Amino acid sequence: MPPDTPPTAQHDGEQEPPALIAPKRWRCCDCGATGLDSHGITCKSCDGLGFC
Ligand SMILES: [Zn+2]
Repeated sequence: MPPDTPPTAQHDGEQEPPALIAPKRWRCCDCGATGLDSHGITCKSCDGLGFC
């Protein structure tokens, strides 16, 4: 299995400043929050963010 490290791989720690990210984060149901689709290209649904 190839490394599918998302560009925003971070620990969901509570020390992250909330100002850097939107308060509402929903995992993209299209790519599974990886930001990449099944072909390994940027997910169109979330624009590669992994959240929508
Ligand atoms: Zn997506």
